[in-house]
This record gives sequence, C-alpha cells and structure tokens, in this order.
Amino acid sequence: MTNKLAAKLARVINATGPLSIAEYMHICMSDPQYGYYQTQTIFGEEGDFITSPEVSQMFGELIAVWCMEKWIAMGRPTRFNMVELGPGRGKLMSDLLRAAKTMPAFHAAAQIHLVETSPSLRRVQADILATGNQEIVWLSDISELSSLPVIFIANEFLDVLPIRQYVLQDNKWHERLIGLDDCGRLAFCLSRDRLPISAFGKAYKFAKSGAVLESSPSREAFIQSISLHLRECNGAGLFFDYGHAQTGLGETLQAIRKHEHVDILTEPGFSDLSSHVDFEALGLVAYRQKIQVGKIKSQGEFLLDLGLLERAGSLGKGQSPETQARLTREVDRLASPNQMGHLFKAFYLSHGVEDQSHPTRELT
Ligand code: SAH
Repeated sequence: MTNKLAAKLARVINATGPLSIAEYMHICMSDPQYGYYQTQTIFGEEGDFITSPEVSQMFGELIAVWCMEKWIAMGRPTRFNMVELGPGRGKLMSDLLRAAKTMPAFHAAAQIHLVETSPSLRRVQADILATGNQEIVWLSDISELSSLPVIFIANEFLDVLPIRQYVLQDNKWHERLIGLDDCGRLAFCLSRDRLPISAFGKAYKFAKSGAVLESSPSREAFIQSISLHLRECNGAGLFFDYGHAQTGLGETLQAIRKHEHVDILTEPGFSDLSSHVDFEALGLVAYRQKIQVGKIKSQGEFLLDLGLLERAGSLGKGQSPETQARLTREVDRLASPNQMGHLFKAFYLSHGVEDQSHPTRELT
C-alpha cells in the first residue's frame, strides 16, 4: 500500500475494527501528518474546488452588506465578535472587511475571529489579511469566544463536518462502515448491529430496502453550540452550503479532486470529502433552543435580494468589455440555478435581533 494514510487507516482498522464514515472523514481530512487540510492545494482553479468567495469578490461584499444590516438591527453595539468559521484561504473575510469600510462604526466595532483547525490554512489566512491592518484572533472552537454580541458567517463549512450513513436491510438500519477486504484494501461493509426502522423518526417509515440515510451528529452538535452561544450573547449567523431544505433519504457523500468526483476510498487524504447538508434537521436543532430560524433560501435568491446585479453593474460601470463579461460570468456562477444558485442554500439564525428583510445597499 503506497498511500501512507491508507496504510495508517488499515493499521487502525486491524487494531480496533471497522470505522464509521464519520471517523473515516475526520481522519482523512484532519490527520496531522497526512490529512487533506495539511497536505493539499485545496482551493481555486489549480486546486480541487472553487468556492463562492473564490469565484467573486462580490460574494464577500454582499455578505458585508448583510452583516452591516444585522449590526444595525442589533442596536449598533460598540464592540461585537465577527466570527468566520472555516475561512479557507481567507478571501471572504478579506472582501468583507474591505467593503465594511463604507461603515466605519461597524468596521471599528468588529472584533475579528477566525475559527480554523488547520495550521497551514491559518498561515494562508494571515497572509491575505495582513494588508488590512486589523487585529485578527484565531480560535479552534467557538467555546473560546467572549460573550460580546456576535455575527457568525460560514461558507462551505457545514458540508465538511462528518456524517454517518445507514442502509435499510430486512427493515432495520445497518450502519455503513469502512473495513478491509481480503486483500487488505479499504472496503465498505455493514455493521451487524441493527437499529429499528423507527430509530430516525417517522419520516422514514416507508423507506424501501436498500435505502440510504445520512445523519450528522457533529453538524447537529455544532448548530446546538452556535444556538446556545446566540441565546446567551444575542446576534445572528449565516451559513451557505450545498444541501436540501427538507430532510430526505439518499446518499450524498462525495470525494472531489481536481474538480472531479473520485472514489471515496481510493487515495484517502488526496480528495475533499463532504456531503449535502440537511438544513431542516439543523433548523430543528436551533428552533428547539428558541433561536429564530430564517426561511431557507437558495443562494441565488439570497444574493439577488442583497443586490448582486446592482453590485455587478456598479463594478462594471465604465470598465472594459472583458471586465464586464467577467462580472457577468461571476454573477451567473454564483446565482444561476444550474450553477451554484439553487443547490447552495443560505441558512440564517438569529436571537435578540430586530429582524428586517435584506434591503439593498449601494457599495462604493
Ligand atoms: N470558507 C472557505 C473554505 C471552505 S473549506 C471558502 O468558502 O472558500 C472548509 C474550511 O473549514 C477549511 O478552512 C477547513 O480547514 C475548515 N475546517 C474544517 N473542519 C473544521 C473544524 N472542525 N473547525 C474549524 N474549521 C474547520
């Protein structure tokens, strides 16, 4: 076995038995020696995938508009925690802070925090944000935040949090695990332990044999801690990710390398593992904590409401035809239903915020 992470996983499986998909995802992404975040060029054309802030500066600028509206609705606190979760290369925060200069009181009040577990990505973020002259604090977990009012933002963060999968057989759910085949290669298998069909709620009682159900205790635990923090400190959270507005069956775990889907078990640590987010399940977690959960909107609808077309128009005014064509391509990529506009959703939580719709503001 030449892949060092595959060899390490095989040793773990030999010692302790098959891994859940959640354990496998965690090791593949975050192993301190061979994990994806440590070793790979992740973002951009030369990397494995392109995210919305990498597509266009307009994404971060419009999120800035949204944050400024929320800050006003929060009563313009003179200090608040502005927190990005999983900032990748730091592009979203860099565009947001530049745009936020249009509202100096907001800019001065924002205590910038980046929640990032990868040491190598922290260095990349520090580089891109160095020019902004703003103090930035890195955290590994939101429990390290002070109790100021807060605005959380995140793009493509929830999808990387691990999931578990269950397959229906003989009217019972069997967890899908990762073990070794006769040749010692990583292979899927099913747990012999079984859960009754009712274990995941009534919604699945008509599931057919072979159906696959995904659940993400880590995502739910994460939204639970965000909700508790919002309840204690007041504020808002905005999460963009691909996923569905209603809970359903189906398999969405995927491995992406160089913009292509690849096999999940081949070359662990060399591809990005993620899955679609079940926003209904997460909304329920927040709702149970008495957090206000916004109507889930598609990314396209959300960005157009915030003034994406107007922003593209003002950036393109008086510019060359090439620049205008590039801006048109970026709008299309971010908001068209056949690109990132429909599959990606905006999920909004708040507590103690005088909520309004999302008025358009002209950026300079
Ligand atoms: N938001 C960025 C990057 C998305 S990739 C963008 O849109 O371009 C996911 C990011 O989450 C990476 O920065 C990764 O290192 C980080 N991450 C993954 N698991 C994490 C965790 N448990 N806590 C904090 N950050 C995490």
